[in-house]
This record gives sequence, structure tokens and C-alpha cells, in this order.
Amino acid sequence: MNVFVIGIGLIGGSFALDIKANYKNTTVSGIDADDEHLEKALELNIIDKKADFNELKNADIVIVSIPVDAQLTVIPKVLDIISDAALLIDVGSTKEAICSLLENHPKRRNFLATHPIAGTEFSGPTAAHVALFKGKTNIICEVEKTAFKLQEKALEIFQKIGMRIRYMNPTAHDKHIAYVSHLSHISSFMLGKTVIEKEKNERDIFDMAGSGFASTVRLAKSSPAMWAPIFKQNKANVIETLEEYISNLERFKNLMKQDDFSEIYNEMENTNHIKQILNGIK
Ligand code: NAP
Repeated sequence: MNVFVIGIGLIGGSFALDIKANYKNTTVSGIDADDEHLEKALELNIIDKKADFNELKNADIVIVSIPVDAQLTVIPKVLDIISDAALLIDVGSTKEAICSLLENHPKRRNFLATHPIAGTEFSGPTAAHVALFKGKTNIICEVEKTAFKLQEKALEIFQKIGMRIRYMNPTAHDKHIAYVSHLSHISSFMLGKTVIEKEKNERDIFDMAGSGFASTVRLAKSSPAMWAPIFKQNKANVIETLEEYISNLERFKNLMKQDDFSEIYNEMENTNHIKQILNGIK
């Protein structure tokens, strides 16, 4: 099998490693805007060789794993090159923009829109690792628009690397993901900013930071190059989540001002329910 991964960072690199581990007679070729990343991916044995766009005509599978703004120009170009039997899987964190862009593309049936709900705050090929996707959910959008044989091919790969599948339409995906992923990142970035601005002496932050602070600001280490385009593409949903979040923060502040600590206690106790909801998620 001839697999090409465009964007050999955390997600693309982890897919490359899992595919190499599960499919013995497979060549994984890497394409990336950053030649140092390609060299690193070769050195780490994430890919077998570097490639360029002209070679995509020989691909069986292409995984495109680059920032969501770049996907909008790269994916149509790749679809134009690949053969009628090839499958292009996109793994971007937003789904509405890419699905509507490709709605009438002549090779729409060669495209599968997915969002693996797996990742870390790190990026680039050194962040890639085997089994990143094991036990994680992969959201697939508009599956009926992908050729049946290619759906089967993709599902076999996802099953082999241990993913669970959820089907969703792109609008619902972008709305829900704004709450559980995009808002968490903004809140982490802004928590980090608030503390850094107040505690100019970074040594104090480091000395006093407990695991609570470290885990809450973990996402603030994430790549702005990846996240700014996500917020741009999901602007309306993200603004809606921010309005609800800000209103909860305002309410908390007002309860503090009013010395209403029994209501603050209730707010926290009601939110403890998150323990049951997230039970089992690492
Ligand atoms: P990453 O680690 O930064 O990897 C992206 C790679 O693509 C980098 O090597 C980057 O090079 C390269 N690149 C950027 N623009 C390119 C272009 N136009 N053509 C070719 N290569 C290009 O990012 P990632 O975290 O793997 O994210 C990749 C995709 O997965 C994104 O669409 C993201 O939304 C999605 N995703 C991410 C997560 C997560 O938790 N990180 C989870 C699920 C899905 P430079 O660094 O030099 O720009």
C-alpha cells in the first residue's frame, strides 16, 4: 500500500507510525512545508521517504494533516492529482468549511472528512507517537458522500489502530467541538496570560505552581499556528461558547461580591457532576 502523509507533525506523524506498525507491505511517504520536519520524520523512522505532489498520483491513501486554513487550498489540489481509486482522509479540527468547499468537487467521493479526538499540546514530528489514537473517538462527517469501498478501507485502518467511530454532520460537529475543545483551549490560554501578566517574576509561578495550575494551563502550550485558523473557521460557535462562559464567570464574581458563598458552594457541587460524565477519560 502506498500511503502519503501531508503534514508530518503530531497527528500526521502518529498516523504514519500506526500505519507502519499495522501494515507490513506499506510505504509511507511524507510531504511537508517544513523540510526540517521531513528530515526529522525520516530520522525517527516515522516515514520511509520524502515525496512531492507529483508522486501523489501513485497514492492509495493520502492523509492531510496541516492547519485547517491550509487544508482549504491543499485538499482540492490533492484531489485533482490522486487516482480515481485513491482515498484522501482529512483530520482537521473543524469540518464545516472543508465539507462545504468540497460539496461539488468532482472527486468528492474520494474524500473522507474525519476529526480524531486525540492529541496533545505538542506539535511537529517529535510529538508523534505510536498508539496516540488507541481507544480514542474518530468523528466522521458526511460518510455517505464517500465511495463505499473507500469508507471500508478507512474504517479498517481506524479499527486496526484502535479507534471508535462516531458519525456526525459537520454543523453539529463544529458546534459541539467549540464547547469541549475550542473553549477549553481559549480558557487555558487566557488563564496562562492572566497569571503571567500578574506574576512577572516567572520563577514565582514555577515555584508555586501545583499540579492543578499545570494541568489547567497545559493547553496554553498549544501551537498558535494550528489554533488561530481553527478559531477563525469556527468563529460564530466559538463566540457563542465564550458568551456563555463569560456570563458564568461574571455570575461567579457577583456571588463573591455579594458574599453568597452558599450559592458558590452549590455552583461547584453541581459542577462536580463532571466526574461521572468524564469517568474513564484519561
Ligand atoms: P503539527 O504538529 O503542527 O503538524 C502540522 C505539520 O504540517 C507541520 O510540520 C507543519 O509545518 C506542516 N504544514 C503546515 N502548513 C503546511 C502546508 N501548507 N503544506 C504542507 N505542510 C504544512 O499539527 P497537528 O497538531 O498535527 O495538527 C494537524 C491537523 O490535525 C490540523 O488540521 C489540526 O486541526 C488537526 N488536529 C489536531 C489535533 C491536536 O490535538 N493537535 C487533534 C485532532 C486534529 P510548520 O510547523 O513548519 O508549519
